[in-house]
Amino acid sequence: MSARAAKRPQIGVLALQGAFLEHEKMLARLGADCRELREKSDLEAPLDGLVLPGGESTTQKKLLTDLGLYEPLRKKIAQGLPVLATCAGLILLARNATQDHSPYPSFGTLPVRVRRNAYGRQLGSFSTTGEIKGLGAFPMRFIRAPFIEEAAPEVDVLARVDGNIVAVRYQHQIALAFHPELGSDTRLHAAFLSLAAS
Ligand code: GLN
Repeated sequence: MSARAAKRPQIGVLALQGAFLEHEKMLARLGADCRELREKSDLEAPLDGLVLPGGESTTQKKLLTDLGLYEPLRKKIAQGLPVLATCAGLILLARNATQDHSPYPSFGTLPVRVRRNAYGRQLGSFSTTGEIKGLGAFPMRFIRAPFIEEAAPEVDVLARVDGNIVAVRYQHQIALAFHPELGSDTRLHAAFLSLAAS
């Protein structure tokens, strides 16, 4: 036996609703251990990173509050826990949102204004290839997606599609309007795992 195996990153995946399994499969392929987060006791063991999956943000926000997960997770994110958020997850992180009529709070840790269902209901789902800063061409699948209408100057804009912001990084938070977990390109998940390992 030579070098000791590196510690596998421990990633919490919010598993209340939506496309969480696909993230778990991709992260497992990259060597991470995933823990599904459904109740407060799931937060007891330490985490190196957090995934907020796509789905329905209004349902996710209600469940987060009802299950008592909202405040402990908000605190962890605010204290620097690395996050990968996709689609509804981006809405959960955003400080402001338009077309969001939910009475339940978002985490509000990402200084952007997001527009829910920004592409309308009919044209809501499409695939394209966009350019991601530092990565190059990347396949992007949008499903009733939001986009970011406005980002604070300190937010690093990673990608735009048709002029609209669809990927950002801010400190330890990566937020995407599209769904890399539904494709086979693992580079964004790998970038998230390197944040989680740092
Ligand atoms: N339209 C959903 C929402 O507003 C997001 C869609 C998705 O996550 N694919 O929450």
